[in-house]
Amino acid sequence: MSKNVLITGAGLGGLTAALRLAKKGYKVKIVEKNDKAGGRLNQIKKDGFTFDTGPSFFSMSYEFEEFAKECGIELPFSYHRLDPLYTVNFSDNPQTFFLYSDIDKLAAQFASFEPGFASKMDRYLADSGKLFHDTVDLVIKNNFDSLFSYFITLMKVNPVHLPVLFRSFWKEVKRHFSSKEARQIISLVAFFLGRTPFDTMAIYTLLSYTEFKHDGYYNVDGGMYKIVEGLVSELEKNHVNIQYNTEITGFTGNHDKLESLTDSAGKKHNADIFLINSDAAWFRGKVFGRKKYSVKKLDKMNWTMGYLTFYLGIKCKLPEIHHHNYYLGSNYEEYANKVMKNPGTLQKPYYYVNVPSKHNSSCAPEGCESLFFVCPVPDLKYKPDWDDKDAIVNSIIDDFSLRIGKDIAPEIVSKTIYTPVEWQNHFNLFRGSGLGLAHSLWQIGALRPANFDEKFKNVFYAGASTHPGAGLPMALISSKLACKRIENLNI
Ligand SMILES: Cc1cc2nc3c(=O)[nH]c(=O)nc-3n(C[C@H](O)[C@H](O)[C@H](O)COP(=O)(O)OP(=O)(O)OC[C@H]3O[C@@H](n4cnc5c(N)ncnc54)[C@H](O)[C@@H]3O)c2cc1C
Repeated sequence: MSKNVLITGAGLGGLTAALRLAKKGYKVKIVEKNDKAGGRLNQIKKDGFTFDTGPSFFSMSYEFEEFAKECGIELPFSYHRLDPLYTVNFSDNPQTFFLYSDIDKLAAQFASFEPGFASKMDRYLADSGKLFHDTVDLVIKNNFDSLFSYFITLMKVNPVHLPVLFRSFWKEVKRHFSSKEARQIISLVAFFLGRTPFDTMAIYTLLSYTEFKHDGYYNVDGGMYKIVEGLVSELEKNHVNIQYNTEITGFTGNHDKLESLTDSAGKKHNADIFLINSDAAWFRGKVFGRKKYSVKKLDKMNWTMGYLTFYLGIKCKLPEIHHHNYYLGSNYEEYANKVMKNPGTLQKPYYYVNVPSKHNSSCAPEGCESLFFVCPVPDLKYKPDWDDKDAIVNSIIDDFSLRIGKDIAPEIVSKTIYTPVEWQNHFNLFRGSGLGLAHSLWQIGALRPANFDEKFKNVFYAGASTHPGAGLPMALISSKLACKRIENLNI
């Protein structure tokens, strides 16, 4: 008889696990706290505009292809490669840098301040490529049953990589490039992991290889939320029911087996097997009441930064800017060292602006543009009060207007703001940390909250705060690893 699986959370990890399992004959049901699927990969429709709320591009497209192949389906959305990947603008330099994956085109922009950029970049990417290929299958795409098996696996990684565990991303970039422009632009990708180049291990320079060389970045035709719509439609075809507006808050179980999860209305949801797509650390503490994950203990862990995101509909076009754009100040090191904890950085914030209507005309009315801003901010532990959010958002709008030479404030016809308070409350993200647990040395691999439960042998986890970590391709790998465990389960 087929086994029942209950999945808590309809984020990318939950949705993809549901389809993998349904295709293998499991009877799957999802319960989701919100009224829509997607989790952080979500959408706002307002005032005639459509906005993606979180992710705006993805890497490692082959993980999506591999997922579709495993499920025996055509990928239910289409995507295209970004070239340039994005632009970078500094407040003290009028030049806009275009991040092309063609190294010669990229190098031409650094000609005046980084002599030999192309060969330096080639060497840097050769090193980071080696790191990627030597770790991806062995460490990132592997389940670890114990600390012992993790350390045995690490011993199989080429020992030449050992120093990158003890060096920062910034130090590694500094070894290769001498100009501040090259160092800052190349190390920017560390922010995509939710920390800074100064507190991210050099092992993550492998991200430079994934962005420039290996597979690049991709946008989804029609907007990122098409991923979710496509998956939900495949799940419907496979009779997977998603029960929305249902938040899991409690449980019943015996000493080693979970019997049911209880929602906030007191209803019990029984199943043979449970997969948790809610944050793997937060859920263990809040719902299972585990001491190791009490609020006090969670506060001692390393979390990724919070995000202030806002979504603007404007009644004009902005031909002067590109699709994906970063706006940096002139104090990178000082800024990065403060951004996680010190709200003072919001005096002169760094931010990212995505203009989805550049490539997807359906997300804004004719003659209009939809804009999505992301600004790194301290999480709620370091800035609990967001009463000043309008003033902060207005200062970013002013700065952006100044930089592009057009005042957009009078053009705004739609505005939605998410502070870490909204990110926390909508998706149960601890202290509003945008990407979940950080990827520091003691919080990766088997040292991250495991994808199997310590107590209940029929409970598993998929998502950003378990192995392997944050980002859309990692959510796919995480669901694959959790499903492998479920298939091997003997109950
Ligand atoms: C601003 C921002 C920008 C980002 N940009 C990118 C990007 O460009 N590229 C990229 O690859 N990644 C990006 N990411 C990261 C990416 O969004 C996440 O890593 C990924 O979406 C996480 O997926 P997940 O499976 O962990 O689930 P989540 O998205 O966390 O979903 C979990 C789901 O569980 C639900 N849930 C939680 N608790 C309960 C409960 N108790 N009961 C019921 N339901 C519950 C939540 O409501 C949610 O729907 C970004 C993230 C943010 C915040």
